[in-house]
Amino acid sequence: MNHQLKQLAESFAAEAQKAASLDDVARLEVTYLGRKAGKLTEVLRNLKNVPVAERKAVGPAANQLKQTIEKKIARLRVSLAVGPAADLDLTVPGIRPPDGHLHLVTKAIREITDIFQRLGFYRVSYPEVDWDWYAFEALNMPPDHPARDEWETFFIDTKAVGPKGQRLFTPHSTSGTARELEQRPPLRSINITKCYRRQIDASHVPMFHQFDGLLVDENVTIAELKGTLDYFFKQFFGPERRVRIRPYHFQFTEPSFEVDVSCSICNTKGCKVCKAGWLELGGAGMVHPNVLKAGKIDPKKYSGFAFGWGVERSYLMKANLNIPDIRILYQNDLRFLEQF
Ligand SMILES: [Zn+2]
Repeated sequence: MNHQLKQLAESFAAEAQKAASLDDVARLEVTYLGRKAGKLTEVLRNLKNVPVAERKAVGPAANQLKQTIEKKIARLRVSLAVGPAADLDLTVPGIRPPDGHLHLVTKAIREITDIFQRLGFYRVSYPEVDWDWYAFEALNMPPDHPARDEWETFFIDTKAVGPKGQRLFTPHSTSGTARELEQRPPLRSINITKCYRRQIDASHVPMFHQFDGLLVDENVTIAELKGTLDYFFKQFFGPERRVRIRPYHFQFTEPSFEVDVSCSICNTKGCKVCKAGWLELGGAGMVHPNVLKAGKIDPKKYSGFAFGWGVERSYLMKANLNIPDIRILYQNDLRFLEQF
């Protein structure tokens, strides 16, 4: 009986080698495994007539051969179907899909959040579709104020104008600051949000990210603002970087400052990238008394500072990336994104 199995295995192997078409494989399958008269089927069917002692050895061997033949036939079918070049081995482990990673802007947002949390700030989140009141009026920019022109705002086209004015897409993260001021001091918030402006060119995208920090308490001074900025810059950009504030004008802070970070390439000596040794990053200042009043906070008792700038710009500066077109950040081109 064992001898018979051996012969079957050998003849199958020889015929399988000659199989040159799917029809040949089908014939092969019928010859050996056919339900009515397959050669191996016959053997398996006759097992019940084999003496018990012999059956114990022959049974498993016959089943083993059946599996071998089935596998070989399946493999022949695949290789003949897709052509001779693809000798497909279905037992080879699969190819693992590549691991993705977070977008660089998401990474920057997490890092910025972490740094300010270490100083006791808490992250807040406010609507991206907001009222004119929070975007402008509460920030000391009444209707028709010319400073509004700097924000290329998307307004929602609706006749319903509520007590807080028209609805719009938040043009800056400072809208969240105005909302945060409705809470009672002490405040230490960090608002990181998507902002929308009608602008698109090599250095602007219509949707980008900003963050706004706000601290309101009793006896807050510019020294604390400077210290907070200094801590952030050294943590985010590296211990060798320095921060500089220059007088400026914003409607919602008084006094106001522009915030610069020392250039990492030339260390304030001046080079092609920075021109004068410093890179302009964002704005800051002491919260304007009118802004505190709009949030029903007594400016005689409380003072505070606010600061804010773009997440994308911060990250590009940190990585020393001088990319010619900022829109590449949002084009989902893996050749660019995979580098970070
Ligand atoms: Zn430089």
